Amino acid sequence: MNLEAYLAPYAAHSAASRGRRFSEPATTARTEFQRDRDRIVHCSAFRRLEYKTQVFVNHEGDLFRTRLTHSIEVAQIGRAIARNLRLNEDLVEAISLAHDLGHTPFGHAGQEALNECMQDYGGFEHNLQSLRVVDQLEERYGAFDGLNLMFETREGILKHCSLPNAQKLGEIGKRFIEKKQPTLEAQLANLADEIAYNNHDIDDGLRSGLLIIEQLDEVDFFARHRREVETAYSGIAGRRMINETVRRMINALIVDLMQSSEAKIHEAQPHSVEDVRNASPLITFSDAMRAEAILLKRFLRENLYQHYQVNRMTSKARRIIRELFEAFMNEPNLLAPDYQVDSGDEGLQARKVADYIAGMTDRYAIREHKRIFLIDEV
Ligand code: MG
Repeated sequence: MNLEAYLAPYAAHSAASRGRRFSEPATTARTEFQRDRDRIVHCSAFRRLEYKTQVFVNHEGDLFRTRLTHSIEVAQIGRAIARNLRLNEDLVEAISLAHDLGHTPFGHAGQEALNECMQDYGGFEHNLQSLRVVDQLEERYGAFDGLNLMFETREGILKHCSLPNAQKLGEIGKRFIEKKQPTLEAQLANLADEIAYNNHDIDDGLRSGLLIIEQLDEVDFFARHRREVETAYSGIAGRRMINETVRRMINALIVDLMQSSEAKIHEAQPHSVEDVRNASPLITFSDAMRAEAILLKRFLRENLYQHYQVNRMTSKARRIIRELFEAFMNEPNLLAPDYQVDSGDEGLQARKVADYIAGMTDRYAIREHKRIFLIDEV
């Protein structure tokens, strides 16, 4: 039975895939992309997402998004759109669930700090690290390192990549050099990510009290949907009003992305993934929605991501990452034997330290920092 018979010709089909780095016997009960999704769900980096955060650190509250719930929301949004466009839902799901695997603890603050520490050693990019996790760092199979995922899944995980890094990556880096597009499934997972975090950051921002409704009313996209909710349910307030508003915003973004992508696909008439690669991006918002999304992002940057209370946590996070990195580089014998480089190669040691730090959850990094720096911690 062909489990992918429903797919459009321009979707990613297992049978037409560029395949795995190490060949394996074909699956029997699943498609190859379902198999990828399952490998991702079972890997340990996936479980660590539960204790990694983007804006709010894990111990700040139980109801804030973590990278795990964020990734599940991305997959949900991506799959809904994929089914409508007859794209490969399993591939979208696999990319969505894996897209943040390489993130450091403490969100962007952690990533920036680690990138600064790694300046002399090739830098640190979370997209590249996500690929590194699934290609090399996971130790689950007898025959190979990593998860040995399909080319299209790996390509989707590597959302961005600098040119110098792309040149080192071979096949998977080629599209950045040739300026070609990835599959529609990868394009979709990328925008589903954006829909998810813009909306849940509003929701979490309000929950935390760092944002208030009156402030958000500056953003027309929010204000419009809030008015719609208040007209539909007179007297509605509090969490219920926020939830109704946010869910309408998500829906509006999904519908817009679906319709505008459908029109673009119709116009470009791609007959295969190869056509998709050579076309301009076909999964896009309408111009009007893109403009609204930009305003929303700007609002979040100015009012939430740079809120002084967020800055305090960001500053602590940066210090923790920097101090851990320096301590391990100055004294590699503080590291578990697996992470010590015997040859004395400094670049290699730095990469191992970066792998170790990037793999930490927020709370593990805080604990490790205490263990290294406080005399009475063990
Ligand atoms: Mg994300």
